[in-house]
Amino acid sequence: TRKKIIAGNWKMNKTVSEAKAFVHALLKELGDYSAADIVICPPFTALQAVSELLDHSSHVRLGAQNLYPASHGPYTGEISPWMLREFYCHYVIVGHSERRIHLGESDEFINKKVKAALAASLHPILCIGEALEERQRGIWKEKIGSQLELDLMAIEEKQVVDCIIAYEPIWAIGTGKNATSEQAQEVHFFIREQLTKLFSDQIAQKIRIQYGGSVTPHNAQELLACPDIDGLLIGGASLDVLSFSSIILNK
Ligand code: 13P
Repeated sequence: TRKKIIAGNWKMNKTVSEAKAFVHALLKELGDYSAADIVICPPFTALQAVSELLDHSSHVRLGAQNLYPASHGPYTGEISPWMLREFYCHYVIVGHSERRIHLGESDEFINKKVKAALAASLHPILCIGEALEERQRGIWKEKIGSQLELDLMAIEEKQVVDCIIAYEPIWAIGTGKNATSEQAQEVHFFIREQLTKLFSDQIAQKIRIQYGGSVTPHNAQELLACPDIDGLLIGGASLDVLSFSSIILNK
């Protein structure tokens, strides 16, 4: 059985002091909760402050929102996997649609990032998902199949199990219009089938697949109850301690 993993992607939100206040309050809300892995992904500028507040043996782990696929060097403005490790990051988001769209990240580049994360023992949270137009044209399987194939190209079986896949339909991100649990389960089942083809059934059964896109305390439990939905990647609702913790604690 796959342990659920619930992650908050803060995107470009929260100052250091806001981040610290959030983490204090979250840890208080969660107490000794351990039923799922919890990940918070602050902006780079708040990683150190949040890291210092987390007990690194706890179930609340630190994630980053991006990395650059090189260990160091002339890459102005970028952050290496080892710099993230320095702050005890366990996870790193790669391939988010906002970066694919606004920063023009290609599948080839995202594949390099996945490999760089794995090489530094970081767990990549690889985001994939179709646009509204692709769903309407009935080509979501082609889109998601090709993203999986290209983004996970030339990665060994023993490494790919450390990846988390996040299905984030672009039309559901920040729109208040989440995929229904039936729609999400259908895609998650398809993703697992593709992972079986690309790797093996054994590997596909191990890899956790999160859903992301307008998750709220109102729809979270129904999504989490689906057999192939192993967790959530939450944007807006992860910025508020009470909504994030009520999703985690199911209350
Ligand atoms: P929202 O939860 O705000 O729709 O964002 C989802 C997301 O992009 C998480 O990475």
